[in-house]
Amino acid sequence: MTKEDKPLFEGYPDFDSLSVAEKAVKLIEFFAEKAATQSGRYRVEEVHIHTDGYAEPGYSIEEGKSGVIALGNWNAITKWDEKKHDSIVVDQTICLLADEFEKLGIEMDWDDEWGYCSKCGKLFRVTQDSYRWQRYYWDCEDGDPICGDCVLEDPTEYLVSFEGKDNSCITIEIDLEKCGYIKLEGGFENGFYDGQDADPKLIAAELRHQDIERFIFNLDGVGQFDLSFSVYVHKSELKKLNKIKFKDKSYNGPSVSGAMREALKDASSKMGKLPDGKGVKVATISAGKAEVKIVSPQDFIDGKALGEKPKHPNKKKAKGRGKVK
Ligand SMILES: [Zn+2]
Repeated sequence: MTKEDKPLFEGYPDFDSLSVAEKAVKLIEFFAEKAATQSGRYRVEEVHIHTDGYAEPGYSIEEGKSGVIALGNWNAITKWDEKKHDSIVVDQTICLLADEFEKLGIEMDWDDEWGYCSKCGKLFRVTQDSYRWQRYYWDCEDGDPICGDCVLEDPTEYLVSFEGKDNSCITIEIDLEKCGYIKLEGGFENGFYDGQDADPKLIAAELRHQDIERFIFNLDGVGQFDLSFSVYVHKSELKKLNKIKFKDKSYNGPSVSGAMREALKDASSKMGKLPDGKGVKVATISAGKAEVKIVSPQDFIDGKALGEKPKHPNKKKAKGRGKVK
């Protein structure tokens, strides 16, 4: 710590004797008090400190770092200035906190990209970092999220929660045969290339028609514009299965690529009719149709252009601020 830094920690005489995680919490308290705006204060208070490392495949604590990870929104508070036609910084307290964290060897990640396990505290991504990314956590419907490492210790509950569902699939790599499920068919594809129209709802409907409820969809792979999946049935229901009848059917739904083409055409025509110079033009497409709107520059900067983001798995319930997890 340099001499100039000293006054920063007045009121914390024992600062030097604290662990890095404890220092981080003290710094959060200190900078929250200093924030120039209420929004800046919240941004500082919402930083979360973690000390259990990563569960996410491909991530580990960088060499020379403290092993303490802080999750937060590290952007300064900004405001759109109509006259300057630019975004101006109104509160950069969070950046000052980040500078101090950097000096302590604390890794900083974005809190809208990462979540933490309710069992072991390890971190996992909640948004993709590449188009090959697959979710490595279980977002239990009525509980807190659990990381892939903890799921793998005993995947039974996780697997049962996907049984009979035609709108979700397993994304954590598990040996399903070992867990009592038999692969019925693989190689199904859904995506934006012509012919990738396999529809899990049609597959599920046929299985239900055969009185089979304990089926599971497994995500086999993801590409930039498509994915592949397979369907498994629990061995306890195999007797009821008519395999020949199942394999005889086609499970293609309406053309996905066709709907995409229609929607893009619709977006192009509707975007052309929006007035210029009023903000940022946004088109959202689904099921062959497009919805267009103009959003303000501030809303665009705040990430609100595409509407509500999916709920963060750790934020279903209120939580404390600046906590060590
Ligand atoms: Zn865990």
